[in-house]
Amino acid sequence: MDEIATRLLVIGGGPGGYVAAIRAGQLGIETVLVEEHALGGSCLNVGCIPSKALIHAADAYHDARSRESGSPFGLSVGGAALDFGKTVAWKDGIVGRLTSGVAGLLRKNRVTVIRGRADIIDGKTVAVDGQKRIRAEHLLIATGSKPAELSALPFGGKVISSTEALSLAEIPPSLAVVGAGYIGLELGTAFAKLGSRVTIVEAAGKILPGWDEELTRPVAARLQALGVDLVTGAKALGIDAATGKLRIAEAQQNERLVDCDKVLVAVGRVACSTGFGLEGLDLAMDGGFIRVDDRCATTMRDVWAIGDVTGEPMLAHRAMAQGEMVAELIAGRKRRFDPVAIPAICFTDPEIVSVGLSPAQAKAAGHNARVAAFPFAANGRAMTQGDDGGFIRVVADEADGTLLGVQAVGHGVSELSAAFGLALEMRARLEDIAATIHAHPTRGEAFQEAALRGLGHALHI
Ligand code: FAD
Ligand code: NAD
Repeated sequence: MDEIATRLLVIGGGPGGYVAAIRAGQLGIETVLVEEHALGGSCLNVGCIPSKALIHAADAYHDARSRESGSPFGLSVGGAALDFGKTVAWKDGIVGRLTSGVAGLLRKNRVTVIRGRADIIDGKTVAVDGQKRIRAEHLLIATGSKPAELSALPFGGKVISSTEALSLAEIPPSLAVVGAGYIGLELGTAFAKLGSRVTIVEAAGKILPGWDEELTRPVAARLQALGVDLVTGAKALGIDAATGKLRIAEAQQNERLVDCDKVLVAVGRVACSTGFGLEGLDLAMDGGFIRVDDRCATTMRDVWAIGDVTGEPMLAHRAMAQGEMVAELIAGRKRRFDPVAIPAICFTDPEIVSVGLSPAQAKAAGHNARVAAFPFAANGRAMTQGDDGGFIRVVADEADGTLLGVQAVGHGVSELSAAFGLALEMRARLEDIAATIHAHPTRGEAFQEAALRGLGHALHI
C-alpha cells in the first residue's frame, strides 16, 4: 500500500473542502484532498449550480410562452419551444466549466487531489480505496450531506431525489413534490414553468415553514397562478400499488391519490457521517451531524469539520467561509467563526432573502425592534421591469437604530443580499443606510427608502 505523509488531509471536495484546500495551499500548508465522486461536491454537481441553471431556463421559457398572448409593453412572441435535451447539456456544460476550474485552482495551489473513497483508520490516518494510506497532522472532514429518504417512499423507480430531478432526460408530464422547503419550491416552480403538472405536498401548515408569512405569501400566490396544486398539512403515504399514483393524507384524514410520473422527495438532507470509519473516532455528534466549536474544531484534537456535515444552515457560502477559516487556523492565525449573519436565499418566484434577524427572531432575542418596509410597487426600476411585487424590510434596534436584520421578497432580490449582509457586518444604523446615495433607478433604492421609513421620513411613499 502506498504511504503518503502530509500536514493537512481534507476529506471531501465540495465548497467547504475545496476552499479549505485552496486557502491552505496559498498559506504554504502541504495539503492532500480526497474526493470519491466529483470536485465541487453537491453544490457544483447536483445542487446550487445545476438548480439555478434549470430555474433560469424555466424562467426564460415560461416568460417567452407568456408573451404569446402579448405583453403590456407590446411584445408578442409566437411558437416558443424548448429543446430540453439542449437545456440539460447547457447545464452540464456550466457544471463542467466550474468543476474543471476548481481542479485548476487546486493544482495551481499545489494541492494533491486523490480520487477515491476515504476510510478513516484513526484521527491521523486515512486509507483510500484500500490502495493508499495517508498520514496527516490535521484531518478536516468536509463530507457534506445527502438527500433524506422517507421510509414510505424509498428512492428508486419514479421516486427521485433532487439529484435525479436535475438530470431528467425529459420534462415529466406530472410531478409530485414532497416537501415545500428550499428544494421542493425551487424545483417544483421550475418544472411547473417547464410545463409539468405539479402538486406539492407539505407536512407543515404552510410553505417554507421556517420563514415568516409576509415573505412567503407572494411565493404561495405565484404557485397558485402557475397552477401548482399546493397541499399543506398533508402526509405522503406511499405509492398506490394499483394505480402508481402518490397516496397522500390531508389533515382531515382524507386520503387522495395524486397523479405523478415522478415523485420528488425533498424533505431535508442528512449528514454524510457514517460508513467511512468516522464512528471509530468517537467524536461528539448531534443527530448525525459532527459537533464543532466556533473554530470548527471537533472534540478530538486536530480533527476539524466544516460544512453540511456539521449541520444547519446547510449552505454553500457557510461551508466555504468555514473552510477558509480552518486553513488559516492551521496556519497559526487567530480566527473564530462568528459572522453577524449568514444570508439565506430562496430562489423561488419571487425570490426571498433573509439576512440577520426577522422581526419575530429579534423579539425572541430580547430586542425592542423597529420594523419598516418599502414596497417595490413604489419603486421605479421594479415598475420598468414589469414586476413590482414584494418589498424590502428592515429590522433595527429601537434605541440606536442599529440594523438587526433585512429581508426582501421580489424579482431579483437575491443580488441585494450582498448589500444587506455588508450593512449588517459593518454594524450599520438606519441613518447610515438612509445617508448612502443609492443609484437611481435601482431596486436597491427600496433598501434606502425602507431605512428612511424606519426613521419616519420615507420620501417616495
Ligand atoms: P458537499 O458539497 O456535499 O461535498 C462533500 C463532498 O465530500 C462530496 O463531493 C462527496 O463526494 C465527498 N465525500 C463524502 N464522503 C467521502 C469519503 N468518505 N471519501 C471521499 N469523498 C467523500 N446552497 C446554497 O448556499 N445556495 C443554493 O442555491 C443551494 N442550492 C442547492 C440546491 C440543491 C438541489 C441542493 C441539493 C443543495 C443546495 N445547496 C445550496 C446546498 C449546498 O449544495 C451545500 O450546502 C454545500 O454543497 C455543502 O458543501 P460541503 O462542502 O459541506 O459538502
Ligand atoms: P428543507 O428543510 O428546506 O425543507 C424540507 C421541507 O419538507 C420542510 O418544509 C418540511 O416541513 C417538509 N417535510 C419534512 N418531512 C415531510 C414529509 N414526510 N412530508 C411532507 N413534507 C415534509 O429541505 P430541502 O428542501 O430538502 O433542502 C435541504 C437543504 O438544502 C436546505 O435545508 C438548504 O440548507 C439546502 N438548500 C439550499 C438552497 C438555497 O440556498 N437556495 C436551495 C436548495 C437546498
